[in-house]
Amino acid sequence: MTQSAVLTPSLAQPDQPQTVASAPWIRRIPLRSPTLPPATHTNAYVIGESELVVIDPGSPWPDAQHALVSALRTLESNGQKLSAVVLSHHHFDHVSGAMDLAAAFSVPVWAHEHTARRLGTRPDLRIDEQLREGDVLPFGPRGFSVLHTPGHAPGHICLLDQAGGGLLAGDMVASQGTIIVSPQDEGDMALYLDSLRRLLQLGRQRIWPAHGIAVEEGDKLVGRYLEHRLLRERKVVQALATGADTIDALLPLAYDDTPVALYPLAQESLLAHLLALLTSGQVDAMPSDSSPAAVTYRLRTAR
Ligand SMILES: [Zn+2]
Repeated sequence: MTQSAVLTPSLAQPDQPQTVASAPWIRRIPLRSPTLPPATHTNAYVIGESELVVIDPGSPWPDAQHALVSALRTLESNGQKLSAVVLSHHHFDHVSGAMDLAAAFSVPVWAHEHTARRLGTRPDLRIDEQLREGDVLPFGPRGFSVLHTPGHAPGHICLLDQAGGGLLAGDMVASQGTIIVSPQDEGDMALYLDSLRRLLQLGRQRIWPAHGIAVEEGDKLVGRYLEHRLLRERKVVQALATGADTIDALLPLAYDDTPVALYPLAQESLLAHLLALLTSGQVDAMPSDSSPAAVTYRLRTAR
């Protein structure tokens, strides 16, 4: 069965709720958001039956926020009630509509403690309750368990439907656009790879990403992400083996398949890989002779 075959055809329009017949308690509502191109929308998910939570209302724009509010009002008119807003992590394109929505429905905002910490500096965002690994949110037929999956962001969580509807994967993977691991924003490639491995162990199931449509064989998507990152890590190691030892020298070698226009993003990714290799003991870092502010990287085995 293809992905599109399981989506309710009449609901498969942008900004319209989408669901699957086997798990009607999970509703995907793509909202236009200031996310990273080529993605243009962040999915807000409304999960539950009589009691509902909204995950990642990420649009700061009134028209998109209105679309979500009106979808919730429709559910409310059917006797369903919003109980909380949940944030998968702290990024702008996931949290920007949270306070407006929480205020409109007088509900609390829940997130992991590291997300609360990251958002603590913003007076316009308040986390009322902290979520932890292993918590079960009592929504849907059997609840959703909280998986702490750091790497893309320190407080990143996924929600696993205990009734088999799938995994709400946040920004662990995407079916549209790409996932950035930025050390400047507390991204950690070693943790991200571990979190991908953990999702892979969950086996075959539907994945609901924050960007793009649902993916039925989620293990294949996660496997592709893991493979892609490990391939890149190998290219970074190969680039180091040539004797290149600075970010500037390594970048065109390790990212020779990447357009120059994307180098600023690639540079972040390269640094993330180098820090992961440093953590695993494969690489040493030391101040550059030519510039004390710069760092050089060398393979340990090359000494
Ligand atoms: Zn993100």
